[in-house]
Amino acid sequence: MKTSKISLCPFCSAFINKVFLSEDGWGSQVKCKCGASGPAHEMTTKEFNKGISREDMAEKAIELWNVGGMENPPIVNYKIYIDIN
Ligand SMILES: [Zn+2]
Repeated sequence: MKTSKISLCPFCSAFINKVFLSEDGWGSQVKCKCGASGPAHEMTTKEFNKGISREDMAEKAIELWNVGGMENPPIVNYKIYIDIN
């Protein structure tokens, strides 16, 4: 379990507790159980070169999800899942 500040879902107000990584590890995205999803983060060359961790990839997706979100997002325990789609 990782911990981060994650805005509640703007559509269903649920706490977000899943962050998805693509199977190849090059992309990450926050998804809510209601079907809402945040912008996908794609690993940059710079991130690749410094050997970005899975956790940091997840954090990038969370940052994108939080843009325009709550002013003080709750601290949430989340898990990283591999998205096989
Ligand atoms: Zn939702």
